[in-house]
Amino acid sequence: MITCPHCDRANPPENRLCAGCGAALATEIQPSTADVEARVRQLLADGRKIEAVKIYRELTGASLAEAKEAVESLAQSHKSAVVQRNGCLGAFLGMALALGFATVMAARELVD
Ligand SMILES: [Zn+2]
Repeated sequence: MITCPHCDRANPPENRLCAGCGAALATEIQPSTADVEARVRQLLADGRKIEAVKIYRELTGASLAEAKEAVESLAQSHKSAVVQRNGCLGAFLGMALALGFATVMAARELVD
């Protein structure tokens, strides 16, 4: 049931307009931000950026510029997430190398 924000009448979920006062129940049928993000991220992961912008516009009703900006920022956060993962691996490898180097230096000192 969707409760109308204007007259508090309970409407069946398939109603786009309130049966009581005719007000648009748009807020209830719009997908959540999380749903939109999930779909956009999925398309970005597949390298389908133009389609991601299109889907974003269809789901949110945003302008082309707004959709582009939103998709860009999602692409950016997607990229930084990948970089962060690589960064962790790099830090781990760096530490392993440093430890190995320290071990070699220690071994040399023992030899001397
Ligand atoms: Zn109503």
